Amino acid sequence: MSGVGAGVAAGFEALYGAAPDGVWAAPGRVNLIGEYTDFNEGFVLPLALPHTAVAAVSRRDDGVLRLHSRDIGGGVVQLDVAALEPGTGGGWAAYPAGVVWALREAGHAVTGADVHLASTVPTGAGLSSSAALEVVVALALNDLFGLGLSRSELAVVAQRAENGFVGVPCGVMDQMASACAVEGHALFLDTRDLAYRQVPFDLAAEGLSLLVVDTRVSHALGDGAYAERRAGCEAGARALGVRALRDVPAVQLPDALGRLTDETVRRYVRHVVSDNDRVARTIALLDAGRPRAVGALLTEGHASLRDDLRVSCAELDLVVATAVATGALGARMTGGGFGGSAVVLVEADRAGAVTAAVEKAFADAGFAAPAVFPAVPSAGARRVI
Ligand code: ADP
Ligand code: MG
Repeated sequence: MSGVGAGVAAGFEALYGAAPDGVWAAPGRVNLIGEYTDFNEGFVLPLALPHTAVAAVSRRDDGVLRLHSRDIGGGVVQLDVAALEPGTGGGWAAYPAGVVWALREAGHAVTGADVHLASTVPTGAGLSSSAALEVVVALALNDLFGLGLSRSELAVVAQRAENGFVGVPCGVMDQMASACAVEGHALFLDTRDLAYRQVPFDLAAEGLSLLVVDTRVSHALGDGAYAERRAGCEAGARALGVRALRDVPAVQLPDALGRLTDETVRRYVRHVVSDNDRVARTIALLDAGRPRAVGALLTEGHASLRDDLRVSCAELDLVVATAVATGALGARMTGGGFGGSAVVLVEADRAGAVTAAVEKAFADAGFAAPAVFPAVPSAGARRVI
C-alpha cells in the first residue's frame, strides 16, 4: 500500500508543486448478505475489498478546494468552499466536494484543500467506488482539520454527501463498510442505530474463497426499481403497523403475510424479513466456526432477490446457477441488482474450475466476459503516509 500511496503522493507533487500533507486510503466493499435491508433499518454483512481509493491531500486555509482524479480526464476542478451547494459541483467532483459540504453543514470548519486521488475500485460494478471516494476524503479532512469524528460519524457525513449533494438516495452500508471494516472480518451492521461488530471471516485460513463476479452489465431499470422497492417496503411497514420492516421477526412472517392484501408488497416483505433472518443465521454460523454452511444461505438469498424482490437479471442468475452446478458452496447477487456483481463461496481449490465454468457459460450465452476476482476481507479506511 505504501507503494500505491507513494505513487499518488508523487502525482500530487507533480500537479500542485509541493508534497501533500498526507495520503489516505479507503476500500470498496462487497456485501456478503442482507440486501435491500438497509432502508428497512435492518441488518447487513459487508466486507471491505483490497481495492481502494487513495487520496493525497493538503490542507488549505483560503477557502479554495482543488480536486483532481488520475482516473478521469478533465484536469483540476477548482471550487469555492463557501459557495458549495447541492447542484454546484457536477460529475465525479461532486463526491469529494459533497463531503466538504456535508462537513460544513454539520458545523465543522473546513477551510479548503488540495486533493489528488486514484482508485482501484471498479466503478459501477456495485462495489462502491463512490463510498471509497467519499470516505477517503472524509478521513483525510478529519485528520488534517483535527475534527475528531468517529468512524461512524465519518460514514454518516459521507452518506450525507451522496444523498444531499450528489443526489443519490443510498443507505449507509457502503460508507460504514469502507470506514469501519477490519482485515479478516465481515462487518455486522445494524442500520437502525449503526451499532456494529467485527465477525471473523478469515477465508484463506478456512481454505475457502469468496469470488466476486462482475457481470459488467448494468440494466438501466436500476434507479426507478430501487425507489419502487423502497416505497413498497414502506407501504408494507405501514400496513403492518411497524416503524420499519426490521421490526417484523422471522417467526412472525407467516402472520404478517396473512395480513397483507397487496401481492407485490407481500413479496417485498417476505424478502426483507427473510433476508434479515439470513444475516442473523450467517453470523451464528460464522461465530460457530461453520463458514461452509453459509453457502446455502447465500443461494437461498439469491432466490429471494430473484423471485420475491425481482431485482436480479439473466447474467446474475447464470452466475449463481453455474457456480452452484459446478460445486460452489453457494452464490448470490450482491448490491442493487439488474447487473453489477455476484458473490460465490467456494472451496479454494475449486475456485479455478468455478471461474472457468462461469466464463464458459457467459460465452455460450453470448454475454460479454465477466471479471472475476477473490474478495479478500481487507482493512477499512486508514492513513498510509
Ligand atoms: P459504484 O459506487 O457502485 O462504483 P456509483 O455510480 O455509485 O457506482 O459511483 C461511481 C462514480 O463515482 C463514478 O461515476 C465517478 O463519478 C465516481 N468515481 C469512482 N471512482 C472514481 C475515480 N477513481 N475518480 C473519479 N471519480 C470516481
Ligand atoms: Mg456507489
